[in-house]
Amino acid sequence: MPVIEMRGIKREYRMEGKKNEESVVVRALRGVDFFAEAGEFVSVMGPSGSGKSTLMNILGCLDKPSAGTYTLDGIETSSSNSDTFAFIRNRKIGFVFQSFNLLARTTALENVELPLFYRQKDRGEKRNKSKSEAGARKEKAVKALKEVGLDERMDHFPSQLSGGQQQRVAIARAMVNDPAFILADEPTGNLDTGMTLEIMGLFQQLNDMGKTIIMVTHEPELAVYTKRIITLRDGCLVSDVKVEERRSAAQDLSQWKNDHSLLAEGA
Ligand code: ADP
Ligand code: MG
Repeated sequence: MPVIEMRGIKREYRMEGKKNEESVVVRALRGVDFFAEAGEFVSVMGPSGSGKSTLMNILGCLDKPSAGTYTLDGIETSSSNSDTFAFIRNRKIGFVFQSFNLLARTTALENVELPLFYRQKDRGEKRNKSKSEAGARKEKAVKALKEVGLDERMDHFPSQLSGGQQQRVAIARAMVNDPAFILADEPTGNLDTGMTLEIMGLFQQLNDMGKTIIMVTHEPELAVYTKRIITLRDGCLVSDVKVEERRSAAQDLSQWKNDHSLLAEGA
């Protein structure tokens, strides 16, 4: 069973015209079919205005299509109400954003624990303050922080972490509920080359462990670290290709570090 099953997805925005003008319909997606299996690592590419954000919002259950069906991990989303929609977002999808979106006055550990609190609220349970529940939450959050290599910094606040480390915390937070897939929107857009390669290496490592990742990116040089590239143009999916010679971000990072230290020595 595919994790993502989209058939004939359309999204139209109606723009109200000024006085006397007719309203205009913008066709942001014009009938997209997209399927992804567990374990895939897919780049979503396309020029500005091609419909990437619109597709992301629908994939992330932040928005509903005007037409078509979207089944996520076996759940038909189109007919679900807003509570179910919120439940799917919290349980089935791990979001990673360009700007990290961490809470500033909250430690790395607490940031990662956050989705586990929402999870209880979703089930309509009272927040259980018992030691065992808190202990179980902490255990899950520490495990996720270990997976991103940050367990030794779990008491740090975001301001005490580099951009790359903050994004690692965000990735741990995305994974802590064991979602059906991770949805990353330009996840390295705010990072320099070294940190970008580190984060791409981490995604490759997580994907090797079986995590399913969908990543929107503008940059072809990042898409080569994924396994498959879909391209949108004018609201249509115009190509869907397997990455033939996938690069290793870890190897590229060590090469880059090498070149960098040589440059520094030469200076
Ligand atoms: P991308 O992320 O690839 O740049 P978008 O999905 O943001 O593309 O936009 C696709 C098209 O839909 C564009 O023509 C854009 O102007 C239009 N669009 C996006 N959001 C809205 C909106 N809320 N209202 C009207 N038009 C929109
Ligand atoms: Mg966009």
